[in-house]
Amino acid sequence: MADLIVSETIFALSSGKGRAGVSVIRVSGPQTAAAILKLTGKKDLPAPRKAQLCWFTDPESQIRLDLGLLLYFPAPNSFTGEEVAEFHIHGGRAVVSGFLESLSRIEGLRSAQPGEFTRRAFDNGKMDLTAAEGLADLINSETEAQRRQALRLMDGRLGDLYEAWRKEIITAQAYLEVDIDFADEEIPDDIFDRVLPIIESLRQKIIAHMGDGFKGERIRDGLQVVILGKPNIGKSTLLNFLSKRDVAIVSHIAGTTRDLLEVHLDIGGFPVTIVDTAGIRDSKDIIEVEGIRRAEARAKDADIKILMVEAADWPNIPVRLKDQIDENVIILINKTDLHAVKPEDMACTEYSCLGVIGISAREEKGMAGFLSCLSGAVEKYMELSDVPNLTRIRHREALSDCLDHLNRFRQTPDKELVLLAEDLRMAARSLGVITGRVDVEDILDVIFSEFCIGK
Ligand code: GDP
Repeated sequence: MADLIVSETIFALSSGKGRAGVSVIRVSGPQTAAAILKLTGKKDLPAPRKAQLCWFTDPESQIRLDLGLLLYFPAPNSFTGEEVAEFHIHGGRAVVSGFLESLSRIEGLRSAQPGEFTRRAFDNGKMDLTAAEGLADLINSETEAQRRQALRLMDGRLGDLYEAWRKEIITAQAYLEVDIDFADEEIPDDIFDRVLPIIESLRQKIIAHMGDGFKGERIRDGLQVVILGKPNIGKSTLLNFLSKRDVAIVSHIAGTTRDLLEVHLDIGGFPVTIVDTAGIRDSKDIIEVEGIRRAEARAKDADIKILMVEAADWPNIPVRLKDQIDENVIILINKTDLHAVKPEDMACTEYSCLGVIGISAREEKGMAGFLSCLSGAVEKYMELSDVPNLTRIRHREALSDCLDHLNRFRQTPDKELVLLAEDLRMAARSLGVITGRVDVEDILDVIFSEFCIGK
């Protein structure tokens, strides 16, 4: 998309595909006004940003297309910063396709590529890259927390934070450069000491920001919860129970392998992926061993583990499963219908974990306690903080580059001022990559390809 000529006028259906009450078709670019006049057959453009009811007519055949609303946004006060029109027409398939067809026959207009409207908004300085990413996240959001987080990105809070940091670095860099420029004159020898506290405080802020437990990424991609246990302990029964719950199941997806099944849940507004794994036990069967390897690998990456054990065995837990117990584990003692476990026997004395709960997955007993423990753990994990969360690996990598340059700066104080300034310039550049303030042409296509057509 990098080689597109931005002066072209683009159009696309911006609302969802398929039959609908109303569909919105958006046009952006210099030919917008001409397209409005051709489709309405009028001599004048409507007043800016005021909805006008109009008949739309195919400019060539003069056949009526639809009666709908027209909104005109003159540049630069529009989403893309260009001339923009929105046609709110009836959402019948034939109406929409007829309208798009008529637009495509108007000279200078062509259909938009995925993300092209947003790309133009970015190119015209209407939003920084983090805001564009927020918009993509908002369009894809499925839960309350995802929506809230995306809105915080979209309103530029994360972008503003990085921009403020970038400016601090540039100011520090300027101090050094003043001294470079006046190299012939007397250079104060405490320049490094004057700049260091600014850099040090910034470094601490970046480190704290990065040490957020990957919350932002989790809210965006879903918290990973893995069910572990020996074969036949009741893992599938538990997953089935969860997938039947009306706590807004998002989807039910079979894993890429037969041994990993996932359900996607909305727990208290947070997206959670619950994964059923192959039963863990010592085995010689090659296929089973591979399944167990995958289960253990998945457990390593999991945020919360649900460890199922048999009531009749409690408190004995096979060693291989015992190794999985840590502060992110919920121990579920299953099949308590076959073998009662006394509350005092459940008291989690030996293990420091999120909780020990007796259930019967088959008879759906004890599930309220389990669900409340699970949702408590999820909420604790995902709480939104005041500072916007980091939401993408792309941001994390750029921040980590920035830290590397700042570390290089402080580790070698006695090197030449030019080199110290260069460390800071590179650090500022890394932050600029996140917001798109520096040349990031190579990553733009990747970012905007996340959008669908019409966005
Ligand atoms: P998995 O191999 O761990 O996925 O175990 P399954 O969910 O397939 O369950 C294995 C067997 O245990 C099935 O026959 C279930 O009906 C049974 N089962 C699961 N949970 C319970 C329970 O709470 N009580 C009893 N009595 N049987 C259960």
